[in-house]
Amino acid sequence: MILRMSSLFVRTLRDDPADAEVPSHRLLVRAGYIRRAAPGIYSWLPLGLRVLRNIEGVVREEMDAIGAQELQFPALLPREPYEATGRWTEYGDGIFRLKDRKGADYLLGPTHEELFTLVVKDLYSSYKDLPVWLYQIQTKYRDEARPRAGVLRGREFVMKDSYSFDVTDEGLDRSYEAHRAAYVKTFDRLGFDYVVVKATSGAMGGSKSEEFLATAENGEDTYVSCTGCDYAANVEAVQVRAPQPVAYDDAPAAHAEQTPDTPTIETLVDHLNEKFPREDRPWHAGDTLKNVIIVLKHPDGTREPIAIGLPGDREVDVKRLEGQLEPTEVEAFDEKDFAKHPSLAKGYIGPGVLGEKNESGIRYLVDPRIVEGTRWVTGADVAGSHVIDLVAGRDFTPDGTIEAAEVRDGDPCPNCDGTLHTARGIEMGHIFALGRKYADALGLQVLDENGKLVTVTMGSYGIGVSRAVGAIAENTHDELGLVWPREVSPADVHLVATGKDTAVYDAAAKLAVDLTARGLTVLYDDRPKVSPGVKFKDAELIGVPTIVVVGKGLVDGVVEVKDRASGEREDVALDAAVEHVV
Ligand code: ATP
Ligand code: MG
Ligand code: MG
Ligand code: MG
Repeated sequence: MILRMSSLFVRTLRDDPADAEVPSHRLLVRAGYIRRAAPGIYSWLPLGLRVLRNIEGVVREEMDAIGAQELQFPALLPREPYEATGRWTEYGDGIFRLKDRKGADYLLGPTHEELFTLVVKDLYSSYKDLPVWLYQIQTKYRDEARPRAGVLRGREFVMKDSYSFDVTDEGLDRSYEAHRAAYVKTFDRLGFDYVVVKATSGAMGGSKSEEFLATAENGEDTYVSCTGCDYAANVEAVQVRAPQPVAYDDAPAAHAEQTPDTPTIETLVDHLNEKFPREDRPWHAGDTLKNVIIVLKHPDGTREPIAIGLPGDREVDVKRLEGQLEPTEVEAFDEKDFAKHPSLAKGYIGPGVLGEKNESGIRYLVDPRIVEGTRWVTGADVAGSHVIDLVAGRDFTPDGTIEAAEVRDGDPCPNCDGTLHTARGIEMGHIFALGRKYADALGLQVLDENGKLVTVTMGSYGIGVSRAVGAIAENTHDELGLVWPREVSPADVHLVATGKDTAVYDAAAKLAVDLTARGLTVLYDDRPKVSPGVKFKDAELIGVPTIVVVGKGLVDGVVEVKDRASGEREDVALDAAVEHVV
Protein backbone atom coordinates (compact mmCIF):
# COMPACT_ATOMS: atom_id res chain seq x y z
CA MET A 1 0.00 0.00 0.00
CA ILE A 2 1.19 3.50 -0.85
CA LEU A 3 0.17 6.51 1.24
CA ARG A 4 0.96 9.70 -0.65
CA MET A 5 1.83 12.74 1.42
CA SER A 6 0.31 14.96 -1.30
CA SER A 7 -3.15 13.59 -0.55
CA LEU A 8 -2.86 11.95 2.87
CA PHE A 9 -5.23 13.46 5.44
CA VAL A 10 -2.50 14.86 7.66
CA ARG A 11 -1.18 18.26 8.73
CA THR A 12 1.97 18.34 10.77
CA LEU A 13 2.15 21.18 13.27
CA ARG A 14 5.19 23.25 14.18
CA ASP A 15 3.94 24.20 17.64
CA ASP A 16 3.17 22.07 20.64
CA PRO A 17 -0.48 21.85 21.64
CA ALA A 18 -1.08 23.95 24.75
CA ASP A 19 -2.69 21.16 26.77
CA ALA A 20 0.00 18.51 26.22
CA GLU A 21 2.03 17.62 29.31
CA VAL A 22 4.16 14.76 28.03
CA PRO A 23 6.23 14.24 24.85
CA SER A 24 4.11 11.41 23.41
CA HIS A 25 1.00 13.57 23.57
CA ARG A 26 2.74 16.56 22.01
CA LEU A 27 4.24 14.49 19.23
CA LEU A 28 1.11 12.50 18.40
CA VAL A 29 -0.81 15.74 17.96
CA ARG A 30 1.97 17.54 16.10
CA ALA A 31 2.61 14.65 13.74
CA GLY A 32 -1.08 14.40 12.89
CA TYR A 33 -1.99 11.12 14.56
CA ILE A 34 -4.74 12.20 16.96
CA ARG A 35 -7.01 15.19 17.66
CA ARG A 36 -8.76 16.00 20.89
CA ALA A 37 -12.57 15.93 20.77
CA ALA A 38 -13.23 16.50 24.48
CA PRO A 39 -11.18 15.99 27.67
CA GLY A 40 -9.82 12.45 27.54
CA ILE A 41 -11.62 11.74 24.26
CA TYR A 42 -9.63 11.58 21.02
CA SER A 43 -10.24 11.16 17.31
CA TRP A 44 -7.86 8.92 15.39
CA LEU A 45 -6.57 10.38 12.14
CA PRO A 46 -5.31 8.05 9.38
CA LEU A 47 -1.74 7.71 10.68
CA GLY A 48 -2.88 7.21 14.26
CA LEU A 49 -5.54 4.72 13.29
CA ARG A 50 -2.93 2.68 11.41
CA VAL A 51 -0.79 2.42 14.56
CA LEU A 52 -3.83 1.54 16.66
CA ARG A 53 -4.84 -1.17 14.18
CA ASN A 54 -1.31 -2.57 14.06
CA ILE A 55 -1.22 -2.92 17.83
CA GLU A 56 -4.68 -4.51 17.77
CA GLY A 57 -3.39 -6.91 15.12
CA VAL A 58 -0.45 -8.07 17.23
CA VAL A 59 -2.65 -8.47 20.30
CA ARG A 60 -5.23 -10.41 18.29
CA GLU A 61 -2.65 -12.74 16.78
CA GLU A 62 -1.14 -13.59 20.15
CA MET A 63 -4.54 -14.15 21.76
CA ASP A 64 -5.65 -16.35 18.86
CA ALA A 65 -2.34 -18.24 19.12
CA ILE A 66 -3.14 -19.46 22.65
CA GLY A 67 -6.63 -20.48 21.60
CA ALA A 68 -8.61 -17.57 22.99
CA GLN A 69 -11.73 -16.81 20.95
CA GLU A 70 -12.75 -13.33 19.92
CA LEU A 71 -16.27 -12.03 20.37
CA GLN A 72 -17.73 -8.62 20.97
CA PHE A 73 -20.04 -7.20 23.57
CA PRO A 74 -21.86 -3.90 23.37
CA ALA A 75 -20.39 -0.89 25.14
CA LEU A 76 -23.88 0.25 26.19
CA LEU A 77 -24.88 -2.06 29.02
CA PRO A 78 -27.84 -2.58 31.34
CA ARG A 79 -27.49 -1.83 35.03
CA GLU A 80 -28.64 -5.20 36.43
CA PRO A 81 -25.48 -7.34 36.06
CA TYR A 82 -23.36 -4.55 37.54
CA GLU A 83 -25.89 -4.20 40.35
CA ALA A 84 -25.56 -7.93 41.07
CA THR A 85 -21.79 -7.68 41.53
CA GLY A 86 -21.99 -4.42 43.44
CA ARG A 87 -19.98 -2.51 40.87
CA TRP A 88 -22.83 -0.20 39.81
CA THR A 89 -22.29 1.47 43.20
CA GLU A 90 -18.59 0.66 43.79
CA TYR A 91 -17.49 2.52 40.70
CA GLY A 92 -18.85 5.75 42.17
CA ASP A 93 -18.14 8.62 39.81
CA GLY A 94 -15.83 6.42 37.78
CA ILE A 95 -18.37 5.29 35.19
CA PHE A 96 -20.75 6.91 32.75
CA ARG A 97 -24.38 6.17 33.66
CA LEU A 98 -27.34 7.06 31.50
CA LYS A 99 -31.07 6.48 31.19
CA ASP A 100 -33.11 5.43 28.20
CA ARG A 101 -36.41 7.10 27.23
CA LYS A 102 -38.31 4.81 29.59
CA GLY A 103 -36.12 5.75 32.51
CA ALA A 104 -34.18 2.46 32.65
CA ASP A 105 -30.56 2.68 33.84
CA TYR A 106 -27.62 1.92 31.58
CA LEU A 107 -23.87 2.36 31.76
CA LEU A 108 -21.03 2.57 29.28
CA GLY A 109 -18.89 -0.47 30.03
CA PRO A 110 -15.66 0.24 31.97
CA THR A 111 -14.69 -3.48 31.84
CA HIS A 112 -16.80 -6.51 31.10
CA GLU A 113 -16.41 -9.28 33.71
CA GLU A 114 -20.18 -9.32 34.28
CA LEU A 115 -21.13 -9.77 30.63
CA PHE A 116 -18.60 -12.52 29.95
CA THR A 117 -19.66 -14.37 33.09
CA LEU A 118 -23.31 -14.21 32.06
CA VAL A 119 -22.75 -15.38 28.50
CA VAL A 120 -20.84 -18.43 29.70
CA LYS A 121 -23.61 -19.09 32.23
CA ASP A 122 -26.19 -18.81 29.41
CA LEU A 123 -24.52 -21.28 27.13
CA TYR A 124 -22.39 -23.70 29.18
CA SER A 125 -23.39 -26.12 31.91
CA SER A 126 -20.74 -28.84 32.21
CA TYR A 127 -17.10 -29.17 33.25
CA LYS A 128 -16.62 -30.72 29.80
CA ASP A 129 -17.16 -27.29 28.25
CA LEU A 130 -14.25 -25.82 30.20
CA PRO A 131 -11.72 -24.33 30.13
CA VAL A 132 -12.78 -21.61 27.72
CA TRP A 133 -10.96 -18.35 27.00
CA LEU A 134 -12.87 -15.47 25.44
CA TYR A 135 -11.77 -11.99 24.48
CA GLN A 136 -12.78 -8.78 22.79
CA ILE A 137 -11.00 -5.67 21.56
CA GLN A 138 -13.41 -2.92 22.32
CA THR A 139 -14.01 0.63 23.40
CA LYS A 140 -14.26 1.18 27.14
CA TYR A 141 -15.52 4.17 29.08
CA ARG A 142 -14.32 5.42 32.43
CA ASP A 143 -14.98 8.88 33.77
CA GLU A 144 -11.38 9.26 34.95
CA ALA A 145 -10.88 11.95 37.58
CA ARG A 146 -7.80 13.18 35.74
CA PRO A 147 -7.74 12.28 32.08
CA ARG A 148 -4.19 13.09 31.04
CA ALA A 149 -1.40 12.78 28.54
CA GLY A 150 -3.60 12.27 25.50
CA VAL A 151 -4.46 8.65 24.85
CA LEU A 152 -2.44 7.48 27.87
CA ARG A 153 -5.36 8.11 30.19
CA GLY A 154 -8.52 8.57 28.20
CA ARG A 155 -12.14 8.56 29.24
CA GLU A 156 -12.87 6.59 26.07
CA PHE A 157 -10.18 4.05 25.24
CA VAL A 158 -9.62 0.74 23.52
CA MET A 159 -8.90 -2.30 25.65
CA LYS A 160 -8.34 -5.92 24.85
CA ASP A 161 -9.99 -7.82 27.65
CA SER A 162 -10.01 -11.57 27.96
CA TYR A 163 -11.50 -13.87 30.53
CA SER A 164 -10.74 -17.47 31.42
CA PHE A 165 -13.23 -19.94 32.88
CA ASP A 166 -12.05 -23.05 34.71
CA VAL A 167 -13.46 -25.62 37.09
CA THR A 168 -10.38 -26.02 39.29
CA ASP A 169 -7.75 -23.79 40.86
CA GLU A 170 -5.05 -25.66 38.92
CA GLY A 171 -7.00 -24.92 35.75
CA LEU A 172 -7.03 -21.22 36.61
CA ASP A 173 -3.25 -21.37 37.19
CA ARG A 174 -2.77 -22.81 33.70
CA SER A 175 -5.04 -20.21 32.12
CA TYR A 176 -3.22 -17.44 33.95
CA GLU A 177 0.20 -18.70 32.85
CA ALA A 178 -0.94 -19.06 29.23
CA HIS A 179 -2.11 -15.46 29.21
CA ARG A 180 1.05 -14.31 30.91
CA ALA A 181 3.14 -16.00 28.22
CA ALA A 182 0.97 -14.48 25.48
CA TYR A 183 1.48 -11.04 27.03
CA VAL A 184 5.26 -11.48 27.07
CA LYS A 185 5.15 -12.36 23.36
CA THR A 186 2.81 -9.49 22.57
CA PHE A 187 4.86 -6.84 24.36
CA ASP A 188 8.14 -8.24 22.98
CA ARG A 189 6.72 -7.87 19.48
CA LEU A 190 5.45 -4.36 20.10
CA GLY A 191 9.08 -3.37 20.58
CA PHE A 192 9.37 -1.25 23.72
CA ASP A 193 10.99 -1.68 27.14
CA TYR A 194 8.78 -3.11 29.82
CA VAL A 195 8.83 -4.88 33.16
CA VAL A 196 6.45 -7.39 34.73
CA VAL A 197 5.67 -6.54 38.33
CA LYS A 198 3.59 -7.90 41.17
CA ALA A 199 0.39 -5.90 41.50
CA THR A 200 -2.59 -5.54 43.76
CA SER A 201 -5.98 -6.80 42.66
CA GLY A 202 -7.78 -3.72 43.96
CA ALA A 203 -11.47 -3.39 43.26
CA MET A 204 -11.27 -6.23 40.76
CA GLY A 205 -10.95 -8.78 43.58
CA GLY A 206 -9.04 -12.04 43.38
CA SER A 207 -5.66 -13.28 44.50
CA LYS A 208 -2.71 -13.27 42.12
CA SER A 209 -2.14 -10.31 39.88
CA GLU A 210 0.68 -8.85 37.77
CA GLU A 211 1.12 -5.72 35.69
CA PHE A 212 3.14 -5.11 32.55
CA LEU A 213 4.62 -1.63 32.79
CA ALA A 214 6.32 0.26 29.98
CA THR A 215 9.32 1.98 31.51
CA ALA A 216 8.80 5.73 31.21
CA GLU A 217 9.86 8.71 33.30
CA ASN A 218 6.41 10.19 32.85
CA GLY A 219 4.58 7.05 33.91
CA GLU A 220 1.95 7.34 36.61
CA ASP A 221 2.95 4.09 38.29
CA THR A 222 6.00 3.62 40.49
CA TYR A 223 7.52 0.19 40.77
CA VAL A 224 10.48 -1.28 42.59
CA SER A 225 12.97 -3.78 41.31
CA CYS A 226 15.64 -5.49 43.37
CA THR A 227 19.34 -5.09 42.65
CA GLY A 228 20.02 -8.61 43.89
CA CYS A 229 17.18 -10.82 42.64
CA ASP A 230 14.29 -10.73 40.16
CA TYR A 231 11.78 -9.28 42.62
CA ALA A 232 9.75 -6.47 41.05
CA ALA A 233 6.50 -4.97 42.27
CA ASN A 234 4.25 -1.99 41.87
CA VAL A 235 4.74 0.08 45.02
CA GLU A 236 1.04 -0.46 45.67
CA ALA A 237 1.84 -4.12 46.18
CA VAL A 238 5.29 -4.10 47.69
CA GLN A 239 6.10 -5.53 51.10
CA VAL A 240 9.01 -3.80 52.73
CA ARG A 241 10.79 -4.76 55.88
CA ALA A 242 10.95 -2.02 58.46
CA PRO A 243 14.30 -0.23 58.59
CA GLN A 244 16.69 -1.39 61.29
CA PRO A 245 15.92 0.01 64.72
CA VAL A 246 17.90 2.96 65.97
CA ALA A 247 19.09 2.85 69.57
CA TYR A 248 17.01 5.07 71.78
CA ASP A 249 20.14 6.23 73.62
CA ASP A 250 21.11 8.30 70.61
CA ALA A 251 17.84 10.13 70.46
CA PRO A 252 17.81 13.91 70.88
CA ALA A 253 17.45 15.49 74.27
CA ALA A 254 13.92 14.50 74.99
CA HIS A 255 14.41 13.63 78.59
CA ALA A 256 15.04 17.11 79.81
CA GLU A 257 11.44 17.98 80.37
CA GLN A 258 10.25 14.54 81.36
CA THR A 259 8.95 13.82 84.81
CA PRO A 260 8.70 10.33 86.27
CA ASP A 261 5.02 10.32 85.28
CA THR A 262 5.60 11.27 81.69
CA PRO A 263 5.14 8.29 79.43
CA THR A 264 8.25 7.54 77.46
CA ILE A 265 8.93 5.66 74.33
CA GLU A 266 9.86 2.72 76.55
CA THR A 267 6.28 2.67 77.74
CA LEU A 268 5.17 2.07 74.21
CA VAL A 269 7.92 -0.44 73.43
CA ASP A 270 7.15 -2.38 76.59
CA HIS A 271 3.53 -2.32 75.67
CA LEU A 272 4.24 -3.64 72.19
CA ASN A 273 6.42 -6.41 73.56
CA GLU A 274 3.72 -7.42 75.97
CA LYS A 275 0.73 -7.21 73.65
CA PHE A 276 2.30 -8.02 70.30
CA PRO A 277 5.44 -10.04 71.00
CA ARG A 278 7.55 -10.80 67.95
CA GLU A 279 9.18 -14.14 67.46
CA ASP A 280 12.51 -13.07 66.02
CA ARG A 281 13.37 -9.98 68.03
CA PRO A 282 11.74 -7.70 70.52
CA TRP A 283 10.34 -4.32 69.55
CA HIS A 284 12.73 -1.39 69.69
CA ALA A 285 12.41 2.31 69.53
CA GLY A 286 12.61 3.09 65.86
CA ASP A 287 10.60 0.12 64.61
CA THR A 288 7.88 1.27 62.29
CA LEU A 289 4.19 0.74 62.66
CA LYS A 290 1.33 1.31 60.28
CA ASN A 291 -2.41 1.38 60.71
CA VAL A 292 -2.25 1.43 64.42
CA ILE A 293 -4.45 3.12 66.90
CA ILE A 294 -3.01 3.88 70.26
CA VAL A 295 -5.49 4.67 72.96
CA LEU A 296 -4.23 7.13 75.51
CA LYS A 297 -5.68 7.65 78.95
CA HIS A 298 -5.53 11.19 80.20
CA PRO A 299 -5.00 12.02 83.88
CA ASP A 300 -8.72 12.89 84.11
CA GLY A 301 -9.57 9.38 82.95
CA THR A 302 -10.68 10.17 79.42
CA ARG A 303 -9.55 7.75 76.74
CA GLU A 304 -8.15 9.05 73.53
CA PRO A 305 -7.51 7.03 70.38
CA ILE A 306 -4.81 8.33 68.10
CA ALA A 307 -4.27 7.19 64.57
CA ILE A 308 -0.72 6.58 63.53
CA GLY A 309 0.89 6.12 60.23
CA LEU A 310 -1.53 7.50 57.71
CA PRO A 311 -0.30 9.36 54.70
CA GLY A 312 -0.90 13.03 54.27
CA ASP A 313 -0.61 16.02 56.48
CA ARG A 314 -3.86 16.11 58.28
CA GLU A 315 -4.55 18.72 60.83
CA VAL A 316 -4.19 17.41 64.32
CA ASP A 317 -7.25 18.00 66.38
CA VAL A 318 -6.88 15.72 69.32
CA LYS A 319 -9.58 17.44 71.33
CA ARG A 320 -12.18 16.20 68.91
CA LEU A 321 -11.19 12.63 69.62
CA GLU A 322 -11.57 12.62 73.33
CA GLY A 323 -13.83 9.92 74.59
CA GLN A 324 -15.39 9.39 71.22
CA LEU A 325 -14.12 6.03 70.24
CA GLU A 326 -13.50 2.79 72.05
CA PRO A 327 -10.53 0.79 70.80
CA THR A 328 -12.74 -2.19 70.09
CA GLU A 329 -14.59 -0.19 67.47
CA VAL A 330 -11.50 -0.12 65.34
CA GLU A 331 -10.49 -3.35 63.70
CA ALA A 332 -8.10 -1.94 61.21
CA PHE A 333 -8.09 1.14 59.22
CA ASP A 334 -6.72 2.82 56.22
CA GLU A 335 -7.62 6.04 54.47
CA LYS A 336 -11.08 4.75 53.62
CA ASP A 337 -11.91 4.03 57.24
CA PHE A 338 -11.57 7.65 58.13
CA ALA A 339 -14.92 8.15 56.50
CA LYS A 340 -16.41 5.38 58.62
CA HIS A 341 -15.04 6.83 61.83
CA PRO A 342 -15.80 10.51 61.74
CA SER A 343 -14.17 10.95 65.10
CA LEU A 344 -10.86 10.05 63.48
CA ALA A 345 -11.38 12.30 60.54
CA LYS A 346 -8.88 14.81 61.75
CA GLY A 347 -6.97 12.63 64.12
CA TYR A 348 -3.86 11.94 62.17
CA ILE A 349 -0.64 12.45 64.00
CA GLY A 350 2.16 12.77 61.53
CA PRO A 351 5.87 12.40 61.94
CA GLY A 352 7.49 14.69 64.40
CA VAL A 353 10.62 15.06 66.42
CA LEU A 354 11.07 13.16 69.61
CA GLY A 355 10.26 15.29 72.60
CA GLU A 356 9.09 18.34 70.70
CA LYS A 357 5.62 19.67 71.17
CA ASN A 358 3.50 21.02 68.39
CA GLU A 359 0.86 23.73 68.77
CA SER A 360 -1.67 21.20 69.98
CA GLY A 361 0.59 20.31 72.86
CA ILE A 362 1.39 16.90 71.46
CA ARG A 363 4.81 15.53 72.10
CA TYR A 364 6.02 12.98 69.67
CA LEU A 365 7.96 9.95 70.73
CA VAL A 366 9.56 9.57 67.39
CA ASP A 367 13.14 9.35 66.41
CA PRO A 368 13.72 11.99 63.76
CA ARG A 369 15.95 9.71 61.73
CA ILE A 370 13.13 7.26 61.39
CA VAL A 371 10.90 10.03 60.17
CA GLU A 372 13.41 10.89 57.51
CA GLY A 373 13.52 7.36 56.14
CA THR A 374 9.87 6.52 56.38
CA ARG A 375 6.68 8.28 57.11
CA TRP A 376 5.36 5.68 59.51
CA VAL A 377 5.57 6.86 63.04
CA THR A 378 6.92 4.86 65.92
CA GLY A 379 4.62 6.02 68.60
CA ALA A 380 2.90 9.05 69.93
CA ASP A 381 2.08 10.45 73.27
CA VAL A 382 0.28 13.35 74.77
CA ALA A 383 1.96 15.02 77.67
CA GLY A 384 0.62 13.71 80.94
CA SER A 385 -1.18 10.77 79.34
CA HIS A 386 -0.45 7.09 79.48
CA VAL A 387 -0.40 4.62 76.71
CA ILE A 388 -2.99 2.17 77.87
CA ASP A 389 -3.96 0.15 74.86
CA LEU A 390 -3.06 -0.49 71.32
CA VAL A 391 -5.12 -1.87 68.47
CA ALA A 392 -3.29 -3.17 65.41
CA GLY A 393 -4.52 -2.92 61.93
CA ARG A 394 -4.64 -5.97 59.61
CA ASP A 395 -1.44 -5.12 57.81
CA PHE A 396 0.53 -5.39 61.01
CA THR A 397 2.70 -8.48 60.87
CA PRO A 398 4.68 -9.94 63.77
CA ASP A 399 7.89 -10.18 61.75
CA GLY A 400 8.18 -6.44 61.49
CA THR A 401 7.11 -6.30 57.86
CA ILE A 402 4.90 -3.47 56.85
CA GLU A 403 3.01 -3.04 53.68
CA ALA A 404 4.20 0.30 52.46
CA ALA A 405 2.30 2.76 50.36
CA GLU A 406 5.50 4.65 49.86
CA VAL A 407 8.73 2.87 49.21
CA ARG A 408 12.04 4.52 48.63
CA ASP A 409 15.25 3.80 46.82
CA GLY A 410 17.49 1.70 49.00
CA ASP A 411 14.74 0.01 51.02
CA PRO A 412 15.56 -3.63 51.74
CA CYS A 413 14.28 -6.28 49.33
CA PRO A 414 11.70 -8.59 50.92
CA ASN A 415 13.18 -11.62 49.12
CA CYS A 416 16.95 -11.27 49.46
CA ASP A 417 19.70 -9.10 50.93
CA GLY A 418 19.61 -6.73 47.97
CA THR A 419 18.09 -3.28 47.95
CA LEU A 420 15.15 -1.92 46.02
CA HIS A 421 15.43 0.58 43.23
CA THR A 422 12.39 2.66 42.28
CA ALA A 423 11.43 3.72 38.76
CA ARG A 424 8.33 4.81 36.90
CA GLY A 425 6.22 3.10 34.31
CA ILE A 426 2.97 3.09 32.37
CA GLU A 427 0.54 0.25 32.98
CA MET A 428 0.13 -1.51 29.62
CA GLY A 429 -1.43 -4.73 30.73
CA HIS A 430 -2.84 -6.25 33.88
CA ILE A 431 -3.63 -9.89 34.56
CA PHE A 432 -5.70 -11.18 37.45
CA ALA A 433 -6.47 -14.59 38.85
CA LEU A 434 -9.96 -13.46 39.83
CA GLY A 435 -11.18 -16.64 41.44
CA ARG A 436 -14.89 -17.06 42.07
CA LYS A 437 -16.02 -13.53 42.93
CA TYR A 438 -17.96 -12.86 39.73
CA ALA A 439 -19.10 -16.44 39.22
CA ASP A 440 -20.47 -16.42 42.78
CA ALA A 441 -22.23 -13.10 42.38
CA LEU A 442 -23.83 -14.08 39.08
CA GLY A 443 -24.37 -17.78 39.78
CA LEU A 444 -22.06 -19.28 37.17
CA GLN A 445 -21.95 -22.98 38.06
CA VAL A 446 -21.35 -26.13 36.05
CA LEU A 447 -21.71 -29.83 36.79
CA ASP A 448 -18.42 -31.54 37.69
CA GLU A 449 -17.44 -35.17 36.92
CA ASN A 450 -19.57 -36.36 39.81
CA GLY A 451 -22.65 -34.51 38.70
CA LYS A 452 -22.22 -31.94 41.46
CA LEU A 453 -22.74 -28.23 40.82
CA VAL A 454 -19.49 -26.29 41.27
CA THR A 455 -18.76 -22.59 40.92
CA VAL A 456 -16.47 -21.68 38.05
CA THR A 457 -13.17 -19.90 38.72
CA MET A 458 -12.13 -17.03 36.47
CA GLY A 459 -9.21 -14.94 35.33
CA SER A 460 -9.34 -11.55 33.67
CA TYR A 461 -6.63 -10.10 31.48
CA GLY A 462 -6.47 -6.58 30.04
CA ILE A 463 -4.25 -4.73 27.58
CA GLY A 464 -4.58 -1.01 27.00
CA VAL A 465 -4.52 -0.99 23.19
CA SER A 466 -5.03 2.75 22.68
CA ARG A 467 -2.84 3.52 25.68
CA ALA A 468 -0.12 1.46 23.98
CA VAL A 469 0.00 3.98 21.13
CA GLY A 470 0.91 6.70 23.63
CA ALA A 471 3.11 4.49 25.79
CA ILE A 472 5.19 3.21 22.87
CA ALA A 473 5.60 6.78 21.65
CA GLU A 474 6.62 7.83 25.15
CA ASN A 475 9.11 4.98 25.39
CA THR A 476 10.74 5.33 21.96
CA HIS A 477 10.58 8.99 20.84
CA ASP A 478 13.58 11.34 20.61
CA GLU A 479 13.97 15.11 20.40
CA LEU A 480 13.16 15.12 16.68
CA GLY A 481 9.91 13.24 16.86
CA LEU A 482 8.29 9.82 17.03
CA VAL A 483 10.34 6.65 16.47
CA TRP A 484 8.07 3.67 15.85
CA PRO A 485 9.13 0.08 16.18
CA ARG A 486 8.49 -1.52 12.78
CA GLU A 487 5.68 -3.76 13.99
CA VAL A 488 3.47 -0.82 14.97
CA SER A 489 4.64 1.88 12.56
CA PRO A 490 1.99 3.38 10.24
CA ALA A 491 4.28 2.48 7.33
CA ASP A 492 7.38 0.35 6.81
CA VAL A 493 9.25 2.89 4.73
CA HIS A 494 9.04 6.66 4.45
CA LEU A 495 10.13 7.42 0.91
CA VAL A 496 11.14 11.02 0.27
CA ALA A 497 11.61 12.44 -3.22
CA THR A 498 13.45 15.77 -3.26
CA GLY A 499 13.98 18.55 -5.78
CA LYS A 500 12.11 19.29 -8.99
CA ASP A 501 13.64 16.79 -11.38
CA THR A 502 10.89 14.56 -12.82
CA ALA A 503 13.40 11.70 -13.17
CA VAL A 504 13.64 11.70 -9.35
CA TYR A 505 9.85 11.45 -8.98
CA ASP A 506 9.64 8.73 -11.61
CA ALA A 507 12.36 6.70 -9.90
CA ALA A 508 10.77 7.22 -6.48
CA ALA A 509 7.30 6.25 -7.76
CA LYS A 510 8.71 3.05 -9.24
CA LEU A 511 10.58 2.29 -6.01
CA ALA A 512 7.34 2.77 -4.06
CA VAL A 513 5.57 0.26 -6.30
CA ASP A 514 8.44 -2.24 -6.00
CA LEU A 515 8.41 -1.98 -2.22
CA THR A 516 4.67 -2.54 -2.01
CA ALA A 517 5.08 -5.57 -4.27
CA ARG A 518 7.16 -7.03 -1.43
CA GLY A 519 4.34 -6.47 1.02
CA LEU A 520 5.59 -3.23 2.53
CA THR A 521 3.53 -0.15 3.24
CA VAL A 522 5.16 2.98 1.87
CA LEU A 523 4.54 6.52 3.00
CA TYR A 524 5.65 8.39 -0.11
CA ASP A 525 6.43 12.10 0.15
CA ASP A 526 5.65 13.09 -3.43
CA ARG A 527 4.83 16.75 -2.70
CA PRO A 528 6.34 18.69 -5.60
CA LYS A 529 6.42 22.13 -4.02
CA VAL A 530 7.69 21.32 -0.56
CA SER A 531 11.35 21.90 0.32
CA PRO A 532 13.64 18.98 1.18
CA GLY A 533 14.17 20.49 4.65
CA VAL A 534 10.45 20.40 5.43
CA LYS A 535 10.15 16.87 4.05
CA PHE A 536 13.02 15.63 6.22
CA LYS A 537 11.59 17.32 9.31
CA ASP A 538 8.20 15.74 8.66
CA ALA A 539 9.80 12.33 8.17
CA GLU A 540 11.59 12.68 11.51
CA LEU A 541 8.44 13.85 13.26
CA ILE A 542 6.22 11.10 11.83
CA GLY A 543 8.72 8.45 12.90
CA VAL A 544 8.58 5.66 10.30
CA PRO A 545 11.62 3.48 11.12
CA THR A 546 13.28 3.54 7.67
CA ILE A 547 13.60 6.68 5.58
CA VAL A 548 14.68 6.39 1.93
CA VAL A 549 15.65 9.59 0.12
CA VAL A 550 15.63 9.73 -3.67
CA GLY A 551 17.32 12.97 -4.74
CA LYS A 552 20.66 14.28 -5.85
CA GLY A 553 22.33 10.87 -5.64
CA LEU A 554 20.12 9.53 -8.39
CA VAL A 555 22.51 10.72 -11.11
CA ASP A 556 25.05 8.31 -9.58
CA GLY A 557 22.39 5.62 -9.29
CA VAL A 558 22.13 5.76 -5.48
CA VAL A 559 19.52 6.55 -2.87
CA GLU A 560 20.08 7.34 0.79
CA VAL A 561 18.73 4.95 3.41
CA LYS A 562 18.42 6.33 6.90
CA ASP A 563 17.62 4.53 10.12
CA ARG A 564 15.24 6.78 12.05
CA ALA A 565 16.21 5.42 15.47
CA SER A 566 20.01 5.55 15.18
CA GLY A 567 20.26 8.32 12.61
CA GLU A 568 22.72 6.23 10.58
CA ARG A 569 22.69 6.87 6.84
CA GLU A 570 24.15 4.98 3.94
CA ASP A 571 24.06 5.25 0.20
CA VAL A 572 22.54 2.23 -1.52
CA ALA A 573 22.35 1.50 -5.24
CA LEU A 574 18.83 2.23 -6.50
CA ASP A 575 18.40 -1.30 -7.84
CA ALA A 576 19.50 -2.78 -4.49
CA ALA A 577 17.25 -0.53 -2.42
CA VAL A 578 14.28 -2.89 -2.18
CA GLU A 579 16.39 -5.80 -0.98
CA HIS A 580 18.10 -3.49 1.47
CA VAL A 581 14.97 -2.38 3.27
CA VAL A 582 12.65 -5.41 3.20
P1 ATP B 1 -4.72 2.64 35.73
O1 ATP B 1 -4.08 2.14 37.00
O2 ATP B 1 -3.74 3.21 34.78
O3 ATP B 1 -5.90 3.53 36.00
P2 ATP B 1 -6.33 0.35 35.73
O4 ATP B 1 -5.57 -0.48 36.69
O5 ATP B 1 -7.50 1.11 36.22
O6 ATP B 1 -5.31 1.36 35.00
P3 ATP B 1 -7.33 -2.02 34.44
O7 ATP B 1 -8.69 -2.03 35.03
O8 ATP B 1 -6.31 -2.94 34.97
O9 ATP B 1 -6.77 -0.50 34.46
O10 ATP B 1 -7.52 -2.15 32.86
C1 ATP B 1 -6.67 -2.91 32.00
C2 ATP B 1 -5.82 -2.03 31.12
O11 ATP B 1 -6.58 -1.02 30.46
C3 ATP B 1 -4.78 -1.26 31.89
O12 ATP B 1 -3.66 -2.09 32.15
C4 ATP B 1 -4.46 -0.11 30.95
O13 ATP B 1 -3.48 -0.51 30.00
C5 ATP B 1 -5.78 0.13 30.24
N1 ATP B 1 -6.44 1.33 30.78
C6 ATP B 1 -7.06 1.46 31.98
N2 ATP B 1 -7.57 2.69 32.12
C7 ATP B 1 -7.27 3.36 30.99
C8 ATP B 1 -7.52 4.68 30.52
N3 ATP B 1 -8.20 5.54 31.26
N4 ATP B 1 -7.06 5.04 29.29
C9 ATP B 1 -6.38 4.17 28.54
N5 ATP B 1 -6.10 2.91 28.92
C10 ATP B 1 -6.54 2.50 30.13
MG1 MG C 1 -7.78 3.08 36.66
MG1 MG D 1 -3.57 0.33 37.80
MG1 MG E 1 -4.86 -2.33 36.40
